[in-house]
Amino acid sequence: MGVVKILTTGGTIAMEEKKGAGALPALTAEDLKSLLPPDIGPLETEEFSNLPSAHMTVDLIFKLSQRVRDLVTADEVIGVVITHGTDVMEETAYLLDLVVDTEKPIVLTGAMRTVSQMGYDGIANLKAAVRVAASDEARNLGALVVMNGEVHAARYVTKTHTQALDTFQSPFWGPLGRVDGDRVVIGKRVKREHIPGQRLAADVPLIKLAVGLDERFLRQAIERRADGAIIEALGGGRVPPWWMPTIKEAIKRGLVVVIASRCPAGRVYDEYGYVGAYRDLKRAGCIFSEGLNGQKARIKLMVALGVTGDKDTIQAIFLQE
Ligand code: ASP
Repeated sequence: MGVVKILTTGGTIAMEEKKGAGALPALTAEDLKSLLPPDIGPLETEEFSNLPSAHMTVDLIFKLSQRVRDLVTADEVIGVVITHGTDVMEETAYLLDLVVDTEKPIVLTGAMRTVSQMGYDGIANLKAAVRVAASDEARNLGALVVMNGEVHAARYVTKTHTQALDTFQSPFWGPLGRVDGDRVVIGKRVKREHIPGQRLAADVPLIKLAVGLDERFLRQAIERRADGAIIEALGGGRVPPWWMPTIKEAIKRGLVVVIASRCPAGRVYDEYGYVGAYRDLKRAGCIFSEGLNGQKARIKLMVALGVTGDKDTIQAIFLQE
């Protein structure tokens, strides 16, 4: 019988309220395991870190992906659960989805309430995550987020609410399945996607648009020779006309510019003929994130730039989504 490996990284699931000091990391990997029912099946734990999302770095999540890559090569490991802060969970999940090439389930989970609060959701989430990691149904789905009884694909899931227990949603697509008691029910499957990334490009800012905003952050990225930039553009992928010269300059100077949408759901698309619309951005040499949100488009561009500098290949990688 195989074992599920639980890798703990921190987040609210491992936090308790320290008198007057607020919630802080406290629970170890063994503490979390000890809260689970004893008959849940063979488990091994490993503490990777005990950090809130806001203290995570790109280097750390890349190291985590390498550790998960190693773990899944062991025959006795049937699946991996990663406990994680919810704030950037979707980014770590998507990185794992892209770079860890395995049929075994990789399941991220966390909590919205600390162990000191009424209705701590950490253990129900961890138990469900272990069930999913051990299940045949969840094989070949890439990295998953399991929270609040639902199974979400890394590619589609996003944190939608600052406090609600059902904060993780896959806007428009919906969850892939549910954990019903001890049963894992998968109703939809996703196409797998893999980039054999061995390193991440370090400097890829995410720049969000709002009405009338100037493009100074993009100019700064050009000046410091960033590797690329994600622009979270308006609607289906549109920028104000005064951004176009700077976007063209960025591309001329070798930055890969990817257009995502600031809308919570939907793809960027070609329709309008005015300055700064999709078609104009395409002519200028921008790449499009398809349906990925800005933060995940950033992870994908960092991985893609780690394997190639060729723009056509990078656009093809984004089209796989
Ligand atoms: N502050 C937490 C974090 O590390 C929030 C959470 O885990 O829910 O993301």
